[in-house]
Amino acid sequence: MRTFLRKVGLMGVTFFVANAIASIVSLVILFTRSRRETVPEVLGRCPVCGAGVSDAAKYCPACGSRL
Ligand SMILES: [Zn+2]
Repeated sequence: MRTFLRKVGLMGVTFFVANAIASIVSLVILFTRSRRETVPEVLGRCPVCGAGVSDAAKYCPACGSRL
């Protein structure tokens, strides 16, 4: 690690650490975004039984009636 510090210097280490932090932050943002997209959102309710149904659903998951 000492030879690495001598080669790149303080500016190089700062740049390296900043790059690492930026990549970690972008990964966390990507992870939270993908998690939000995969979670099915309950946007409506079945008119027959009142169960919560997602916007993409064509049939009620509870009673099977068409939406
Ligand atoms: Zn229903």
